[in-house]
Amino acid sequence: MAGTRFAYVRNFELPDPLLPDTYLVCRLDGHSFHRFSDEHGFAKPNDERALQLMDHAAKSAMIKFKDIMLAFGESDEFSFLFRKSTNLYNRRQSKILTTLTSYFTSCYVLYWSLYFPDTPLRYPPPFDGRIVVYPTECAIRDYFSWRQADTHINNLYNTTFWALIQKGGQTTTEAHATLRCSFPERFKKGSVIVRDIVRPIGIHDEQNRAESTELRNFEDVFPYSTYLRRPWSALSEMWKGSICASR
Ligand code: ATP
Ligand code: ATP
Ligand code: MG
Ligand code: MG
Ligand code: MG
Ligand code: MG
Repeated sequence: MAGTRFAYVRNFELPDPLLPDTYLVCRLDGHSFHRFSDEHGFAKPNDERALQLMDHAAKSAMIKFKDIMLAFGESDEFSFLFRKSTNLYNRRQSKILTTLTSYFTSCYVLYWSLYFPDTPLRYPPPFDGRIVVYPTECAIRDYFSWRQADTHINNLYNTTFWALIQKGGQTTTEAHATLRCSFPERFKKGSVIVRDIVRPIGIHDEQNRAESTELRNFEDVFPYSTYLRRPWSALSEMWKGSICASR
């Protein structure tokens, strides 16, 4: 087909490469989930099943896309951090964004009934997505701090803090004290999924031989694994106590 007189239309497809050697953050967000959560009877303000389903879809995406090093989720959104040196799809923006977004969405639908066994899906939920490139670790830390502050503000302050004051007659200090220990961590801080960098296993290590293929693949995918530890430790520090490790 390439040689036909029609082939010139291909020239209208413009390349869309992402800047090399920069961190890629891909953030997905459920479309109209205010309505979706109402129609599917989500508990308010935080439905644990819905959050677990989001985490499940995010873990599946991390298993498929090995260059995602960390994911942060809250409410109907998830942010995925790709390693700086990723060459996924030659860093073509629309290829990365559309494939990740549709994969996440497919997983959300595929695993729906595991978390909502008694609630049939009434219509297909779309997710939108965007990719932002960040040049520095500092900007990456600030990005995740920003999303986490959003979680905290939405869940803690806007809803309960003011309810305690206005309806419960508490002072601001009392309301702070009441809230400090009253919510599960994930409602206050969202969820974090970190890729574990696994130590390569020696060929003579009988005990772990069964796992060695998987680990070798893992190492193939992560030629720069030592280097990659650095942004982790900085980010992990931020989330002491709320990290859940995963492969
Ligand atoms: P948009 O299409 O612009 O993203 P939206 O309706 O999805 O619109 P968001 O700002 O993304 O608006 O907010 C998502 C909404 O989905 C929340 O305000 C909340 O009502 C609902 N929601 C998402 N996850 C949960 C959950 N786990 N438990 C309860 N409600 C949830
Ligand atoms: P890429 O991820 O690059 O798109 P691909 O494997 O999807 O890789 P395509 O060039 O998109 O490759 O080709 C799609 C392939 O899917 C076809 O070559 C064919 O093998 C298969 N396929 C798609 N639809 C059908 C169908 N209706 N019947 C049989 N095979 C199909
Ligand atoms: Mg949106
Ligand atoms: Mg939304
Ligand atoms: Mg949202
Ligand atoms: Mg195809």
